[in-house]
Amino acid sequence: MNTPIDRAACEQMDALDSLAHLRDDFILPEGVIYLDGNSLGARPKASLERAQQVIAHEWGNDLITSWNTAGWFDLPSTLGNQLAPLIGAAKNEVVVTDSTSINLFKAIAAALEIQSADPQRKIIITERSNFPTDIYMAEGITRWLDHGYQIVLIDTPEELASVVNEHTALVMLTHVNYRTGYLHDMAAVTRLIHAHGALALWDLAHSAGAVPVALNAAEADFAVGCTYKYLNGGPGSPAFIWVPEKHQAHFHHPLSGWWGHTSPFAMNPGFTPTPGIRRALCGTQPMVSLALVGCGLDTFGKTDMPTIRQKSLALTDLFIQLVEQRCASHPLELVTPRDHAQRGSQVSLRHPHAYAVIQALIRHGVIGDYREPAIMRFGFTPLYVRYTDVWDAVESLRTILDTQDYDANMQRNAVT
Ligand SMILES: *Cc1c(COP(=O)(O)O)cnc(C)c1O
Repeated sequence: MNTPIDRAACEQMDALDSLAHLRDDFILPEGVIYLDGNSLGARPKASLERAQQVIAHEWGNDLITSWNTAGWFDLPSTLGNQLAPLIGAAKNEVVVTDSTSINLFKAIAAALEIQSADPQRKIIITERSNFPTDIYMAEGITRWLDHGYQIVLIDTPEELASVVNEHTALVMLTHVNYRTGYLHDMAAVTRLIHAHGALALWDLAHSAGAVPVALNAAEADFAVGCTYKYLNGGPGSPAFIWVPEKHQAHFHHPLSGWWGHTSPFAMNPGFTPTPGIRRALCGTQPMVSLALVGCGLDTFGKTDMPTIRQKSLALTDLFIQLVEQRCASHPLELVTPRDHAQRGSQVSLRHPHAYAVIQALIRHGVIGDYREPAIMRFGFTPLYVRYTDVWDAVESLRTILDTQDYDANMQRNAVT
């Protein structure tokens, strides 16, 4: 497996790549190798024309009639249905709306209300290494409810088996860890959680569009996720929430705004939630931003997740192999699991001067990012990253490390 590889071999892999043509769906600046699609996906070419259409035509010409005639009112569910197959959800189980943080709030609140029938279930379990906003949202709810809920942070995935018990209300996990790229076995972990009567909430921020997800097959309870990462929806594009049919009738969240009402335009003073997934909505959605989510999803309609997964693993395997062969003399430590079954679509490397090295790479046109502590993070989006990009990125990394062409004492930007 570890026979030395050269750039010509990577060119050959690009020539044989059945997804290569999908790169044409995206705008990528000349001379840039973009390995940060796990943070902000690249721009679909179609999104500019779609924005023009929404702004000039739907808003400019048709004004308020577009809520009906352009499908604006239905758009959260239209897009939810388009997204559903990517995450193993059924029709009418997903809406695209609000932010991931806000959708976490709704899902946590609804789960705690379901579990309140059993007053001994007061524990929410999550990982210390989870994305901070997930933990912060749980903290906010437990503090505000003031019903004795506690958050328990586990330090390894294995620890869950010894911590989950009859006091657990909810286990809230991120399917692919944003920092390490560790991928949970969703079905097995959900089974473990259910065996103790707890509910399973999955955050798919780094899985939707990156790895195959089978929410219904895993019998998960709730899920949320971003559309601006691997789904290429645009900066700050609305997130999604999945509530399976089995939970919809008893899904109640406190952000009970009029978009979740059974007949919003009846303008009744009392709240009656709509029977279906739209009860997960709160209020009026940002139509310009929401519309662009469709452009990102359209590209996924031209392929399927198993094909994307195959290329994703080939790209991350290649990156790991080249780093180990060509940067072997440098203190780089692989943080991401080698085991395919435990790897998302990113590779994280620890280096003592990780922040400075990432900044030097960005100067060389290779865009990855930095995450605490001392981790360089490289995301591989199979829709537009080429095998030669992997080669060229590792060559830039090797050159920077060999020549120590980075400033170890540099000041950090606000967004790393
Ligand atoms: C990116 C990410 C978020 C982002 O949440 P926002 O509300 O969009 O800021 C949340 N959770 C995880 C796990 C993420 O990776």
